[in-house]
Amino acid sequence: MKGCCVCNSSDVIELIDFGAQPICNRFIKSLDDDEYKHPLVLGLCNACGLVQLINPFPASELRPPYNWITYNEPQDHLDYLAGILSNLPDINENSAICGISFKDDTLLLRMKKRGFSKIMRLDPEQDLGINDGWTGVETIQDKINLDNAKEIVNKNGKFDLIIVRHILEHVYDLPEFMRSIRELLDPDGYVVFEVPDCTKSLEYFDYSSIWEEHTVYFTPATFKNCLEYGGFSVEHFEIFPYQMENCLVAILKPSEEFDNRSYNGKILQDEKNRAIAFSHEFSRKKTLITSYFSDFKTNREKISFFGAGHTAIVFINIFNLKDYIECIIDDNENKQGLFMPLSHLPIISSSALKEKDIKFSVLSLNPDLENKIVEKNRTFVKNGGEFLSIDPKSKLSLYHKLKTSSFEDINLSKFNDEVYYSICDVAKIRRKDIEWMKERSMDNKRKRCRICVHKDIDEKVHEMFIIHTKGAYVRPHKHINKNESLHVIEGSADVFIFDDSGKIKEIIKMGDYLSGHEFFYRINNPYYHTLNITSEFLVFHETLKGPFDRSDTIFAPWAPEENDRKATEQFIEKLVLSKKTFFQLKKIVIKVNNNEYLLKTN
Ligand SMILES: [Zn+2]
Repeated sequence: MKGCCVCNSSDVIELIDFGAQPICNRFIKSLDDDEYKHPLVLGLCNACGLVQLINPFPASELRPPYNWITYNEPQDHLDYLAGILSNLPDINENSAICGISFKDDTLLLRMKKRGFSKIMRLDPEQDLGINDGWTGVETIQDKINLDNAKEIVNKNGKFDLIIVRHILEHVYDLPEFMRSIRELLDPDGYVVFEVPDCTKSLEYFDYSSIWEEHTVYFTPATFKNCLEYGGFSVEHFEIFPYQMENCLVAILKPSEEFDNRSYNGKILQDEKNRAIAFSHEFSRKKTLITSYFSDFKTNREKISFFGAGHTAIVFINIFNLKDYIECIIDDNENKQGLFMPLSHLPIISSSALKEKDIKFSVLSLNPDLENKIVEKNRTFVKNGGEFLSIDPKSKLSLYHKLKTSSFEDINLSKFNDEVYYSICDVAKIRRKDIEWMKERSMDNKRKRCRICVHKDIDEKVHEMFIIHTKGAYVRPHKHINKNESLHVIEGSADVFIFDDSGKIKEIIKMGDYLSGHEFFYRINNPYYHTLNITSEFLVFHETLKGPFDRSDTIFAPWAPEENDRKATEQFIEKLVLSKKTFFQLKKIVIKVNNNEYLLKTN
């Protein structure tokens, strides 16, 4: 893996793997179309605290297939900013000013109105050699390189003031980008960088703010640190407050010496803590949000999203909500008739609120527009409809409605933090119970939870609904005089069956019924076995002969004990590795010797 995109440290850890995701600007015309997908993985640099994508989508893939895709950046602070820029020491009406992309036009216009006349904006075709009709920042950022910068300087001379609004967060090669800006800049000149401030998104657990086009997620501290790494010194720094994300504006001069001493251990630790809290909360939020949406389906209430932008796309896809949503409403006619990436939900006009008898509509657009939309659709509200919002900071936020289901809802008695018993004569399990268990599994030490539907340990048949989370270690064991069967309800896992010496006899890839993998096994002989969970949660139903007797379970002497964390992590790593070899060799062996593919793990 490549190192941190700012400080190049190799110590970049994975925060959240959102799985294979589509490109948000690729709305689908026909459901038969193939969709491009790439893993969306958020990471954290332990050395500089910057949150960033690990292995981002190839830049060339991000080019929009439609020419009507727009970016709306906040503008309210631009008059004020133009005032500050006009009054910088050594900046006057003859100063040469340059904007990097179309996103700088509105500020350049304000500078023009203030009497500045030597203003230019880089021309994608002339200056950057971009020849495709329309150009987004994903293409421009790729062409801001040292060679192009030198040529621009040859033609125009160096600039006294350069404006770079809302492009840095899209950049793939930050050091090269910043070197190029320095090349364009007069040694006494200034550069203005503006980026969104992701602090609120991280602190409010707004997972929909992550998307493939933003390669980095700045906060004030990591932004300044990045610019200092790039060879600039901060002359002026402002945070402009906005509902969605604040704007960070830094006015800088080129600097010969690299100095980020102000970035001390305490600041770095705060950055890392915030990012790690964001990653830890993801599973819990996912559980709560999924359960919240599934209730609409249970209650036969139709729900739509309002706004077919990237936040809606990410929200629906990372929380896998497609089955619960009726349609996506967007009054942009260009989008109507198309389908959302990955979820394939249809995009239609706001008349659908009435026509489709929608009960709830989740606002997924710029939060500044929420009041306007609610006002515009007051008949929907008057007729009993309700607007919600995916923005955790909105007063309409659906996050306020997420309730940890209460124990009273559940017909269970607690045995310990991990084990619950059904207390009904006719034991029943609902999806709600499973979601409730998922929450419990995140609270307890071993990250697992079970509901026993047999009455007590003396029963002759033991049936359990069990949740294991990713990374849980199940020490390989076998049951004497007992058959064990397992039925997957949700998630995926690899089941390893061993012989007594620890040789892998078989690896079963398991998933739920719809996955196409094995969803059920029954072990009829006392073989050692274990599971390696490959999804966030594995939910399964296990049946075992009772009564429970500890001595009937024999743990494999060649596998580490559960409380030895380091050894168990190594063991799981080894298992995952041996899986690769096993399947490679199995292909060869299976041909010559039917059913005989005993392999030793190394
Ligand atoms: Zn770093």
